[in-house]
Amino acid sequence: MPLYLVCAATAIFNAPPDEIAWVSLLYTVVLFLAERLIPANKEWNYPLNFKEGGREFLADVFYILLSGQLGTRIVQIVASYAAFRARDAWSFNFWPMTWPFWAQLVLAALIYDFVPYFQHRAAHRWEIIWRFHATHHYPERMNVLKGSRNHPLDFFFLNVGGIAVLFFLGVPSEVFLPMTLTLDLLNTIAHSNINVSDRFIGWFFVTPHLHHIHHSATLEESKSNFGCRLIVWDRVFGTFRPRFKEESAPLLGVSPRRPRSIYQQLVAPLYRRRYDEP
Ligand SMILES: [Zn+2]
Ligand SMILES: [Zn+2]
Repeated sequence: MPLYLVCAATAIFNAPPDEIAWVSLLYTVVLFLAERLIPANKEWNYPLNFKEGGREFLADVFYILLSGQLGTRIVQIVASYAAFRARDAWSFNFWPMTWPFWAQLVLAALIYDFVPYFQHRAAHRWEIIWRFHATHHYPERMNVLKGSRNHPLDFFFLNVGGIAVLFFLGVPSEVFLPMTLTLDLLNTIAHSNINVSDRFIGWFFVTPHLHHIHHSATLEESKSNFGCRLIVWDRVFGTFRPRFKEESAPLLGVSPRRPRSIYQQLVAPLYRRRYDEP
């Protein structure tokens, strides 16, 4: 898997911007096949009958288009507008342009995941934010298309802060683009159902196993491993959890009262007075 990540990052770093979508699609297919070959839990892969597996697949694709694709564009427009307005008012440039490229990448990655780390913790603490974030925790099994299963407002909330701070600091696009694409791929892998060892990469990055723990149906376990792409902030701030209590049969998801249809999932957080507790 570390070798895979190196290959993925290399391809993304070298791909022209208009080919990124194809590179991402290719990696999704590779990850999909890997889930069949080396699954973390066999029963988490899509059932092969359409009635069960097809509905879930189409719902996953819907959230990828709505939150993953459209949501990303909106986040970038809003974040860049807010950051550039603030920069105009303050007129400075904090970004360490003279640092080596790799050091700028590391700094950008740490910032990119630092802000969402705290936003994610807030989403699991306060009910008003949890209502929207709960959609991300409804699935009872993980696979490669679950990474964008977010209510659009939750997706916006979790992503706009880190990007706005980076733009505000003046991150150059040569650093921002490959860094975000590589880390977002890590987020996709974290939601996949691939049996990956936590050794080595689990010191720095969110692995599937570590993120599955965050999706646990056990409240105590779900309040850990908040990092969306990196695990370092969980290690620093004491929310890191290395394993399930019951590794042999982990249960994912939230309360059985969850809305089933996409429509209900989209509108329920807006009007329900009481919602599943975070
Ligand atoms: Zn969460
Ligand atoms: Zn997740």
